[in-house]
Amino acid sequence: MSDNRKLTTASGIPYYHHEDTQSVGPRGPLLLQDFILHEKMAHFNRERIPERIVHAKGSGAYGTFTVTNDITRYSRAKVFSEVGKQTGIFHRMSTVGGEKGSADSERDPRGFALKFYTEDGNWDLVGNNTPIFFIKDPKKFSDFIHTQKRDPYTNLKSATMVWDFFGLNPESLHQVMFLMSDRGTPYGFRHMHGYGSHTYSMVNSNNERVYVKFHFKTQQGIRNLNGEQADQLRTDPDYAQRDLLTAIDNGNFPRWTMNIQVMTVEQSKAHPFNPFDLTKTWSQKDYPLIEVGTIELNENPQNYFAEVEQAAFAPAHVVDGIGYSPDKMLQGRILSYPDAQRYRLGGNYEQIPVNRCPFMVSNYQRDGQMRVDGNGGKGPNYFPNSFDDIKPDASYIAPPEILDSNIADWYDRNGEGENDHYTQPGIFFREVLGDEDKKHLISNIVGAMSGIDGPKRDLIVNRQLCHFFRADIQLGMAIAQGLGINLADVMPQERHA
Ligand code: NDP
Repeated sequence: MSDNRKLTTASGIPYYHHEDTQSVGPRGPLLLQDFILHEKMAHFNRERIPERIVHAKGSGAYGTFTVTNDITRYSRAKVFSEVGKQTGIFHRMSTVGGEKGSADSERDPRGFALKFYTEDGNWDLVGNNTPIFFIKDPKKFSDFIHTQKRDPYTNLKSATMVWDFFGLNPESLHQVMFLMSDRGTPYGFRHMHGYGSHTYSMVNSNNERVYVKFHFKTQQGIRNLNGEQADQLRTDPDYAQRDLLTAIDNGNFPRWTMNIQVMTVEQSKAHPFNPFDLTKTWSQKDYPLIEVGTIELNENPQNYFAEVEQAAFAPAHVVDGIGYSPDKMLQGRILSYPDAQRYRLGGNYEQIPVNRCPFMVSNYQRDGQMRVDGNGGKGPNYFPNSFDDIKPDASYIAPPEILDSNIADWYDRNGEGENDHYTQPGIFFREVLGDEDKKHLISNIVGAMSGIDGPKRDLIVNRQLCHFFRADIQLGMAIAQGLGINLADVMPQERHA
């Protein structure tokens, strides 16, 4: 940049008086004609765009995805076409429930959103640092998020509404256990795993479809805060932002290994539970991880607002060779994410540089606020037409997804394999967590449930306790003990004739 740049208005007019407004004499009232005052104030008044309702507080960086293993037998996506191939990415990690100013060390899942700038368009994989989620039907999402935000009367966070929702929705138990373990308070963003969380599909060049789950294993090693450390770190609310920024600035580039689990369509039909249920994992003993590649973050954005705040991800954006699945939560997010971005950033949000596809974009969408890419120039704005040569390419047709049922089914969701909310949380507690992890899980749950208050306290506490007991008796006992609950008071008494 040259050093002799002049100060100008937004329309490029050089001016001198930047800090003093024109007035009637040195002490008189201001003149309306000093439009630079209006321009500065008016632009300032418009600096904030709607905060993301979820994932408001986040950090992001650019990087690369490098293929390390051939998975072309599963996917024809160009991003996976050969070992060694590199694709540019943008990656945003975030907390979920807190507002923009909240602490990075809050107990919360962490968002793990990736944008791959592939030559077949931008592929967004928008997951979390957990392989599962609290609910399995998107109609519950707004109710759930309300409980994670502020009480409408007190304007305070409320453990009562959080645990009321959890207890009334036992499908949340698996994710609640992850959240309450020390992985619910990761040490910044670099030391956590990421997951695509949903089931997606992949299609190969023979038009064969398989279902897949994505796993990103941190190469920095898992590192978490225990409850006490997370509480202390709230005094440094931007810890994770600084940690990521500094690591990249210092050339200490964080990396994750991308793996997939693969399930055939036949296996999905024979699976003992609904494999598209977002509250459950696929056992890695049956569906082992297959390495795919490495993501590396190696470039900090130059401007936080332009690049991180305006980054817009949508699970709807899959590219040829990658597809959806019947996962109901994924289906709901296909609708809601682009809708949220249009509300937050406007209908032309995909022209913002961080969101823009660096390769060809050609269609007949035109006009709208903040259209800044030339708007298709003088070319035709309708299809078909006799003037340009833009044509739909049949090689991008994906094979049909064969579904089991053509009945729009609202009521019969209690069939076999649908509503076992306890087996996997039980396995998680008994077989995955070590002794120290178990202790921390229990004390974190006891601490969080101790905040439940009000007239429904006993109902909410006892209902949730029953869920923990159903997952594992020792877990239920330990939590009850921690909460000072006499089990004889809550357990159904044996009836004597
Ligand atoms: P495995 O023993 O094959 O895998 C267990 C998984 O748990 C590994 O991915 C392991 O990976 C992860 N893990 C280890 N410690 C923790 C922890 N403290 N918090 C969260 N995850 C941890 O068993 P299965 O695949 O049969 O799964 C058994 C249970 O493990 C599941 O019911 C689920 O609760 C949990 N789990 C399963 C995952 C899956 O995708 N199958 C993923 C994560 C957890 P790592 O140590 O690298 O994190």
